[in-house]
Amino acid sequence: MERILAVVAVFVIPLFFPGCEPVTKEKQLERFIESHVAKVEPLTRQANLAYWDASTTGKPEDYERVNKLQLEIRRIYNNPQEFALLKDMKESGQIRDARAVRQLDKLYYAYLKNQIEPELLEKLVDSDSRTQEKYNTFRGTMDGKKVTMSDIYTILTTEEDCRKRELAWKASKQVGDAIVDDLIELVKLRNMAARKVGFENYHTLSIVSGEQSVEELDGIFDELCELTSEPFARLKKELDEILADGYGIAPQDLMPWHYHDPFFQRTPLVYDLDLDMYYKDRDVKELAEKYYAGIGLDVDDILARSDLYDREGKYPHAFSFEGDRHGDVRILCNLQNTERWMETILHELGHAVYSKYHDRKEPWLLREPAHSFTTEAIAMFFGRLSRNAAWMQQMLSLPDEQRMKIEQVSEKYLRFQQVLFARWAMVMYNFEKQLYAEADQDLNTLWWDLVEKYQFIKRPPGPVDAGWASKLHFTTAPCYYHNYMMGELLASQLHNHIVHKVLMLKSDEGVSYFGDRRVGDYLRGKVLGPGALYHWNEMIERASGEPLTPKYFVNQFIK
Ligand SMILES: [Zn+2]
Repeated sequence: MERILAVVAVFVIPLFFPGCEPVTKEKQLERFIESHVAKVEPLTRQANLAYWDASTTGKPEDYERVNKLQLEIRRIYNNPQEFALLKDMKESGQIRDARAVRQLDKLYYAYLKNQIEPELLEKLVDSDSRTQEKYNTFRGTMDGKKVTMSDIYTILTTEEDCRKRELAWKASKQVGDAIVDDLIELVKLRNMAARKVGFENYHTLSIVSGEQSVEELDGIFDELCELTSEPFARLKKELDEILADGYGIAPQDLMPWHYHDPFFQRTPLVYDLDLDMYYKDRDVKELAEKYYAGIGLDVDDILARSDLYDREGKYPHAFSFEGDRHGDVRILCNLQNTERWMETILHELGHAVYSKYHDRKEPWLLREPAHSFTTEAIAMFFGRLSRNAAWMQQMLSLPDEQRMKIEQVSEKYLRFQQVLFARWAMVMYNFEKQLYAEADQDLNTLWWDLVEKYQFIKRPPGPVDAGWASKLHFTTAPCYYHNYMMGELLASQLHNHIVHKVLMLKSDEGVSYFGDRRVGDYLRGKVLGPGALYHWNEMIERASGEPLTPKYFVNQFIK
């Protein structure tokens, strides 16, 4: 009864005083956004440009400028009064315009994850940099000699002597024991910060402020687990036989160090195929430019602003860069004419076209991808092509028999890699969830329980150590790993939709989208253009007819 009266009162007052309009919540939000964007937009542009300078020059003063600007931006989102105001507007239910609701959500979550008291924040930053420094300067040892990670990778991919493999694998994990106490302290501090804003732990806070929910992720990962269990067992059995044969041991005696990666997250290179030979006399930049132009997503302006080749002091990997949400989009690469860089430039340009084609009539706050994993999906969608036999045939004018040769090995490799990564991502997701739920449990045993459950790899004999903590993501990118998997799922879902509903084909056999502008038109209209106008799952539903599902990933890679 009281509630009804209150609602009536709100609607009645303006009618009696038409000349004196009260400040409605929507008006209040509009004003807030205006002044917020006026502050944040120029700072973001400066921070982005400083980051570009730092990455291309490697100068410490440029990196310092980045840190300073990022801190300034963080301070804006740390403001408790403004957060309270946004919270009040969100809880009032009085913001009804769809664009206003989306902008409010974006703001609310950006403020939410930054609501940490200065004292706790200082402790967190301290603990974080201490852990990272220890991580970065630690070197594992083999027979008392220090080894680098690249020595370890060389041994794990080429060495036939099982004792040496065991030592190298163990050396890769030693950093775990060295940093685990610091990492647990960091986990507890992150949890403390999350509890101050009303969450049970930091994992839940991260998921919720990323506009996802734990139940939703559990559902997706459980379904993925079920759909991949049997095929993964089959593929792994086949791999185990090849590996065991090579070492002259029985498959049941394979230990974690017999695989070619410290965490078995990459497929061992037992299926021989040198794709580099197809790219070495070509220009990967020209190939990428020509391909994107053919599907109606021009990248020549992006490439003209980009920094593409190796140079002293320059950041050695690759990324896509957006300066200002007004079209200043670039990529950074260190191109060589190899398959890996073909994949990388296609991948980074995927991120770049997402940014370039955001509808600039949308408000500034919504001119970004629907989620970090949706831009990852577009990047993966295109990156996957560098090993696609049909694509290679069309781009490189290969004869049929070469296409067939590539197809046989490359598809098998790709299929295994995808299923393997899915099983590995399940370990990461479930472990991190439990790590933040109870940091004082026996984590070393928990880790191996999950590895056995999802990756079908036996724990080594003897007491278990904290080797899991050697995975850098626990330290530097907490509670984020699941998004890599979600990106793969979406890339497959979009692929399926384009093949069947846009190109109207019966199967994806031989599909490379080469020269088909319908692909670019579809992606611009349904994914790139809307940016963050819709919640990620609404965007996916509008673009493909259903919310995110692992179904199409499984269809694409498990045959
Ligand atoms: Zn990416």
